[in-house]
Amino acid sequence: MAIKLSEHFTYEEMVASATAKRLGLSNAPDAKSLDNLKRLCQDVLEPLRVKWGRPIVVNSAYRSPAVNKAVGGAKNSDHRFGAAADIRTTTNTREDNRKLFNLAVRMANEGEIECRQIIDEYGYQWVHISINHADNSAKINQVLHLK
Ligand SMILES: [Zn+2]
Repeated sequence: MAIKLSEHFTYEEMVASATAKRLGLSNAPDAKSLDNLKRLCQDVLEPLRVKWGRPIVVNSAYRSPAVNKAVGGAKNSDHRFGAAADIRTTTNTREDNRKLFNLAVRMANEGEIECRQIIDEYGYQWVHISINHADNSAKINQVLHLK
């Protein structure tokens, strides 16, 4: 049975990693990362999901140090601390992913969610969304577009 971190998001989907599976690496979060994952789900993903009104797909959230290294992630990546998720819509069209991105930015601007960063990754292929946490410099709702 899946463990809920919030109404619509589970522990399993937040720690799922094809890379970990393929390479036989552990992707179990430590207590601090698990706490960040819960805050990410409860404070950001859940309100966004409710307002979006449809399921949101989590491509990747937590990455253990070994998994982060294997995928070539930045050493201080927020994923490494359970503080970031790469999300997309169920249709996964750039148009719909752009709408989800715009909704997140709007909610952040209106104070409905507080993020560290909201990033359009490569023309809305997915949306990176993160929260502030103890192990990275704080940013307030920084919005970026990666090309
Ligand atoms: Zn990301």
